[in-house]
Amino acid sequence: MESINVASNLAAVTKRIQTAACQAQREPSSVTLLAVSKTKTLALIAEAVAAGQRCFGENYAQEAAQKAKTLHHLNLEWHFLGPVQSNKTQLLATHMDWIHTVDREKIALRLNKQRPNHLAPLNICLQVNISGEASKAGLNPKDILALADSVALLPNLRLRGLMAIPAPADGLAAQRAPLRALQAVWKTVRTAHPHLDTLSMGMSADLEAAVLEGATIVRVGTDIFGAR
Ligand SMILES: *Cc1c(COP(=O)(O)O)cnc(C)c1O
Repeated sequence: MESINVASNLAAVTKRIQTAACQAQREPSSVTLLAVSKTKTLALIAEAVAAGQRCFGENYAQEAAQKAKTLHHLNLEWHFLGPVQSNKTQLLATHMDWIHTVDREKIALRLNKQRPNHLAPLNICLQVNISGEASKAGLNPKDILALADSVALLPNLRLRGLMAIPAPADGLAAQRAPLRALQAVWKTVRTAHPHLDTLSMGMSADLEAAVLEGATIVRVGTDIFGAR
């Protein structure tokens, strides 16, 4: 089996974020590193926690809820990044702190209704489809403002910003182009909702491009925990 040193991988990824932030003349602390632990063991997550990592991302509702429940005593922050199915909203509303992939009002209404009252409002990002044909997930940019307007009215949700998964591209310039397109959407939505503070974009292969284009959360799996 491939041997993974989570602590040194985390340090290397953190360094990459710092370098890109400096290049963009941004505070490195303005970028949060989300460790994407989908399919990875509790033992690997524990290694990341021991190295100081607090925020984790998961893609499958059952697995995400199970991990959050098992590690509840550690007070970690759990982010859901996968497609949200209607029959999983209860699990997610109960066990997650953030959902990055809301792209339908129906899902937002269910999450709002099912968020337990004793918990803080569930943090929400709206997923924008910036790759056109390349992916079906996410909302057409022209429909984002209407969904933002309705999510902002739901008391058990806290609208934080936008999320995108661009089609894979090689080279910094090709990676930056679709992310820059997101800026136009971001401007429009922020004019109507000035308190929004989150742009979730950038993964192992394109985190530098994302930081240069204003990402406030980067979601890194492979370069921390190894290939899946
Ligand atoms: C799996 C996943 C990631 C992490 O991707 P890596 O290439 O392993 O860093 C980030 N965001 C989403 C939405 C994912 O599904």
